[in-house]
Amino acid sequence: MKCPFCSSDDTRVINSRPSDEGAAIRRRRECAACHRRFTTYERAQFEALMVRKRSGRHEAFNPDKLLDKLRIACNKRPVTEKQLREFAYSFEDEVQAPEVASDEIGRRTLQFLKSLDDVAYIRFLSVYRDFDSVDRFIEEIRQLGSDAAALEPELERES
Ligand SMILES: [Zn+2]
Repeated sequence: MKCPFCSSDDTRVINSRPSDEGAAIRRRRECAACHRRFTTYERAQFEALMVRKRSGRHEAFNPDKLLDKLRIACNKRPVTEKQLREFAYSFEDEVQAPEVASDEIGRRTLQFLKSLDDVAYIRFLSVYRDFDSVDRFIEEIRQLGSDAAALEPELERES
């Protein structure tokens, strides 16, 4: 391990202890050249986040695929590409597990969109959940709260 201050290779571990409830090892190091101290963390990295689909099949999580869906839901809405990229590319770290159900991805994405833009949220909701009737869809929108009333004309225009 190189010293981050002087780049010397001659550093040694002073002590190490578990951190983050055992998920990481925290090591305190000292540089033999400049005598400065620094901390490193060692943690396990999952190979790749696996998605468990409703059919029971598994596939590797693909942030680009999630990003595509977000872009479609946010088309012409006041949402920046940067906001969407941040969500899609940090998703794997947020989950902190080797596997995630596709429903859970949908749930987290809905939560994210709800905080961003109501129209994008409703667009994603309409695709993601197979509503068996128009009434159930409208009911879901009503539950959004008082803002929902203002959205109804917009929905009609777009459908
Ligand atoms: Zn040093």
